[in-house]
Amino acid sequence: LVENNAKPIWHPMAHPAEMRAQPPRIIMKGEGVHVTDIDGRTVLDAVGGLWNVNLGYSCDPIKKAITDQLDALPYYSGFRGASTGPSIELAYELTEWFKPEGMVRAFFTSGGSDSVESALRLARQYWKIKGQADRTKFLALKKGYHGTHFGGASVNGNANFRRNYEPLLPGVFHIPAPWTYRNPFNETDPIKLAQLCAAAMEDEITFQGADTIAAFIMEPVLGAGGVIVPPDNFMKLAREICDRHGILMISDEVVTGFGRTGAWSGSRLWGVKPDMMTIAKAITSGYFPLGATLIGEKIAEAFEADTTSFSSIGHGYTYSGHPVGCAAGVAALAETRRLKLDENAAARGKDLADALAQLKARHPSVGDVRSKGLMAAIELVADRDSKKPADKKTMAKVADATYEAGVMVRVSGNNIILSPPLILTSADVTRMAEGISAGLSAAS
Ligand code: PMP
Repeated sequence: LVENNAKPIWHPMAHPAEMRAQPPRIIMKGEGVHVTDIDGRTVLDAVGGLWNVNLGYSCDPIKKAITDQLDALPYYSGFRGASTGPSIELAYELTEWFKPEGMVRAFFTSGGSDSVESALRLARQYWKIKGQADRTKFLALKKGYHGTHFGGASVNGNANFRRNYEPLLPGVFHIPAPWTYRNPFNETDPIKLAQLCAAAMEDEITFQGADTIAAFIMEPVLGAGGVIVPPDNFMKLAREICDRHGILMISDEVVTGFGRTGAWSGSRLWGVKPDMMTIAKAITSGYFPLGATLIGEKIAEAFEADTTSFSSIGHGYTYSGHPVGCAAGVAALAETRRLKLDENAAARGKDLADALAQLKARHPSVGDVRSKGLMAAIELVADRDSKKPADKKTMAKVADATYEAGVMVRVSGNNIILSPPLILTSADVTRMAEGISAGLSAAS
């Protein structure tokens, strides 16, 4: 199995030269917050699959919903003019769930990248319907991550996710991320930094012309860019700027949706109502690929009142509203609500923040620790004064040694990324921190 796996699978994140020599980790089983590899080693999954397995690996209600739906109807297209019971039920559940954010419709997709792509396309369509066809540009944050499709790659704010695919979508502009540890203003006060970034956003809008901008997209907490937690006032400031200039706001909640930050969404965390939200990942807790673009009242009304051809939706997916995925989603949402995973993420998030502070105090290689609820990053540096990022070799060494100590983590740049299942206990947090501490010691 190892030999076969090593060749034909073109591992999306393991192809770079520095990772080619590393055999893939072959995971055979999962239970609760643990996964077991082909050698029978069981480790705590501090990544929660890939930021998505919020309910852990043995959620019986989701498994049952999937098998029941497979028996009843394994597939029917949810594309234009057809739908299935589970897709209707899940759309209803999602609009109830995200009512405080103002979401009234759910457009189903096959995952997060699709959800982002659909949101960008819907934004352009919206302005055509409104007779403002010049509003085509997009604003986004540096360090943001919005998936792998060309639209998403274009709004991505990290050179690593962009440079191999250029030329990307024209008319996309990035503003500095409100990141206290590293920012172009050398500002460490979070509130002042948020104001500086907001001023940069205003400046870019004035320069471009507000009437040329379709939408601003941001993650409420920037995930893949290294868990950058914006200051408390930033998303609200951005919303105010969007309102002032008539720009749509898209909140990319592929990671932050469904409780990860300790609130049911990142928008709710910051007290903001976006015009659209993109969700995926934990919508099924990873048990089935599914995503959705959620649409607020203003956009829904425009599409539904429209009599031109602009509202024709040319971006349905074969698996839009997949009945098995939607059945998994309905069950995952019910379990998520029953277990109050938002409250657990907030409480265990406090434990985790304490543990991270201790790791920073104990290990000089830790330059910064950042977390909100149960999403966290440990940023490693060559030395704290220069903040020079730790090199790839060191990062791989830490990840391997942490695995040896019984904890699976992932590396993104010079960050160790943590996004464990939200069913985590206090004891699990302690074990996670011990494993990472052992990993850091082994690599120093
Ligand atoms: N947006 C954000 C904020 C993400 O974190 C991701 C995936 N990590 C995506 C979009 C893309 O989602 P997917 O991998 O399901 O296509």
